[in-house]
Amino acid sequence: MNNSKITLYKGKEASLGRLHPWVFSGAIARVEGEPKEGDLVTVYSSRGEELGQGHYANGSIAIRMLSFVIGENINQDFWLERLASALRLRISCQLLEEENQERQNNIYRLVHGEGDQLPGLVIDIYGTTAVMQAHSMGMHLNREVIAEALMKVYEEFCGKDVLQAVYYKSEGTLPTKEQREDCTNGFLIGQSEQSVVYENGIKFLPDWLRGQKTGFFVDQRDNRSLVEFYARHRKVLNAFCYTGGFSLYALRGGAERVDSLDSSSKAMYLTEEHVRLNFGDCQRHRSITQDAFEFLETMPENEYDLIILDPPAFAKHRKVLRNALIGYRKINTQAFQKIASGGILFTFSCSQAVSKEDFRLAVFSAAAASGRHVRILHQLTQPADHPVSIYHPEGEYLKGLVLQVD
Ligand code: SAH
Repeated sequence: MNNSKITLYKGKEASLGRLHPWVFSGAIARVEGEPKEGDLVTVYSSRGEELGQGHYANGSIAIRMLSFVIGENINQDFWLERLASALRLRISCQLLEEENQERQNNIYRLVHGEGDQLPGLVIDIYGTTAVMQAHSMGMHLNREVIAEALMKVYEEFCGKDVLQAVYYKSEGTLPTKEQREDCTNGFLIGQSEQSVVYENGIKFLPDWLRGQKTGFFVDQRDNRSLVEFYARHRKVLNAFCYTGGFSLYALRGGAERVDSLDSSSKAMYLTEEHVRLNFGDCQRHRSITQDAFEFLETMPENEYDLIILDPPAFAKHRKVLRNALIGYRKINTQAFQKIASGGILFTFSCSQAVSKEDFRLAVFSAAAASGRHVRILHQLTQPADHPVSIYHPEGEYLKGLVLQVD
């Protein structure tokens, strides 16, 4: 329902004028109507000019803008158009390419929130299944119409049965505890079972029902390819491996040995399953179920000449930033101190609250503590199916550095 009118304080319309999609609660001067969490509202400047429409929430981000087109109807056509635009981008990034079987991809992100002008919505595709996640009540309330539009768009662009099921998974992502408790994960359309899907031709068995996030870390595809490129003849440590993505690329790239490490035994089980699926009984791979901080601290020097550090988001919000930076510094210091001469370190942060500069500083001070000569070979980020709206730089959350250590 859109019957509420939100008027902003003078001067607070400037960011919307630059198409930034968030209105903070402190910018709101007046509310006419009684908008409920997730309702569509229309936003006005202090001079009474209409600025656009968005989903209302009782949080510090009070409105997530859906449209800056005055008077636009937020109906099924709106969702169809937005999803079609998202799919066109992925097609133009060659993510649905099937001709090159060796590098086949049918794992990709179709909707990346603000980057696809759909704030609060994430949709990942695993073969014929879409996994949809709402991060706002507005998207939660629209889940059925979005799922139907999604099926239609796929049928029109890709043909019938290319998409067969839509699984909704927001029990862990809605903003408040009550909303999360009220939400049930489940299929909105069709049914599907775990099946083999491909990322750059590597086989994976993502578990959207039980796995973390939507079942797989879709955002490391390009960076995993770079690991493959550098892996030949190297001894690799993949720390925080989850389902083993980087390890599989390193094995395909001709690594002499790959050690995968995660503190979760479930993650290690999934990694081993993926190694078997792609390489059978692989003597080059070893699993280590251990805390990474502890492992890095006690591992001997010169054991590895390619180390990957891809920890979980150490800072979920700015308040814990300091501790997060200490964490990044700690693991990177160990890696710099112990990596063999000529070694290559891939180090990442996926915390949105940690800026590129913060992360770089933490890694620089870790390098300095080791006293070794360190050079930056690549500066990495998220792939093209996780686009960042130029008006919403907050959308750039994945940061990585590839460093050569003499
Ligand atoms: N690199 C992975 C994604 C990493 S997600 C990929 O490419 O798919 C982060 C992983 O870190 C999770 O699997 C989690 O179980 C693991 N983890 C969290 N804290 C850890 C710790 N202290 N030591 C080792 N692993 C940890």
